[in-house]
Amino acid sequence: MSTTSVINPATEKEVASVELLDVDATDEAIMRAVVAQQHWARVAPADKARLMRRFAEAVDGDRENLAQIEVMNSGHPITQARWESAHVRDVLSYYSAAPERMFGQQIPVSGGLDVTFHEPLGVVGIITPWNFPMTIAAWGFAPALAAGNAVLLKPAEWTPLTSIRLGELAREAGLPEGLFQVLPGRGSVVGERFVTHPAVRKVVFTGSTAVGKQIMAGCAAQVKRVTLELGGKSANIIFADADLEKAAASAPSGVFENAGQDCCARSRILVERSVYDRFMELLEPAVAAVRVGDPANEATEMGPLVSKKHFDSVSEYVSDDSLVAFRGATPAGPGYWFAPTVLTPRSRTDRTVTDEIFGPVVTVLPFDGEADAVQLANDTTYGLSGSIWTRDVGRALRVSRAVDAGNLSVNSHSSVRYSTPFGGFKQSGLGRELGPDAPLSFTETKNVFIAVD
Ligand code: NAP
Ligand code: MG
Repeated sequence: MSTTSVINPATEKEVASVELLDVDATDEAIMRAVVAQQHWARVAPADKARLMRRFAEAVDGDRENLAQIEVMNSGHPITQARWESAHVRDVLSYYSAAPERMFGQQIPVSGGLDVTFHEPLGVVGIITPWNFPMTIAAWGFAPALAAGNAVLLKPAEWTPLTSIRLGELAREAGLPEGLFQVLPGRGSVVGERFVTHPAVRKVVFTGSTAVGKQIMAGCAAQVKRVTLELGGKSANIIFADADLEKAAASAPSGVFENAGQDCCARSRILVERSVYDRFMELLEPAVAAVRVGDPANEATEMGPLVSKKHFDSVSEYVSDDSLVAFRGATPAGPGYWFAPTVLTPRSRTDRTVTDEIFGPVVTVLPFDGEADAVQLANDTTYGLSGSIWTRDVGRALRVSRAVDAGNLSVNSHSSVRYSTPFGGFKQSGLGRELGPDAPLSFTETKNVFIAVD
């Protein structure tokens, strides 16, 4: 077995060394999961629900610890990390109601009774990225377990620590051995094995569009089920009739939260030309006010980028000849700090406008009228989220329906809610997570006809 060194991105110091599983160890874990799932499927719905609630309680009891681990491993500001660990608890409590509500249908037919069942798939493999390690993991494992599956979770190599802790909490809460296993390892080893092993019946992947396409192609060989949550380049559309003060004050949080390492980041600000100058005047102090610094400090709003490698990749987009409108500040000393940066690119096809930078870099472009705004917003291969600022209710609805994206908010940058569906149009993904229907995406519908004669 090899190991990986986990680095605190705010200090550049090693905080842990984690063993990485090889293919043989992954296969053994898959076989343990197969056995555990066969038992789990037969556990009474009320008992499954009780165990899910105990898991939620165990996470609740460990919330502060989980948050501190995320601060140290991922550089998330402590107030946001606390939101994340509480969110994991909430996702578990929400889906703990599901085992007793996996309703099928009774369909009128002649000659008998027709009923449908939602059968669990079996073993589900979840592959998570490094940007929101524990929340994204929970969006997969909570509904999958509730629907009667066993879960294998492969965290990203840079950020495995909160996932490992969640695996321990599941056991402490009494989840049967083998039912929920956390398998640190390389994507090309453990992740790839989820794709090729026939006993893994579904892969839930969150990460880059490039790797997502490979996973989907690999799953095709076995017609394996797949959910993909991929990249984004979402638009924040600001019309002239909007509350400009509010739109400008909130634009930084819409893109710079988690240092822009957020698939929902509103990284393209589109402003109606008649208010463009006024909007920029209001945006400048809002960007300057973003508090970048030690993630352990309660006042901090933005921490460092996750790694040196990622810092280099983001840096490539801002050079001496970039049209930088203004930038925020960063602390001195060690850490992968990148200042909030506002660009005014020369053209609508500049790569800062088209590429997902995944860092605290936002472009601002003017538009002329509603049709142009929609055309510009949709001029991307992605379609994950977006915001629309206007006081005109009709326009808010027209533009919401016209933008090709899975998650839109009007006069806000709404974050994810566990009770509503989340996912992407176009190359931002396939399938939906969260919301009331999520457990169904971890089942097969079975139809049974029972003759009465
Ligand atoms: P990534 O390189 O695609 O990695 C994501 C995960 O896949 C990691 O666990 C990685 O393992 C694993 N992996 C890599 N190659 C693999 C392979 N060949 N087979 C199986 N698994 C493999 O993405 P990332 O750089 O971590 O994350 C950033 C990207 O994720 C961004 O593009 C962002 O938009 C997207 N994202 C999307 C959402 C969403 O909900 N739509 C949420 C968060 C992030 P290693 O750690 O070992 O490389
Ligand atoms: Mg990668």
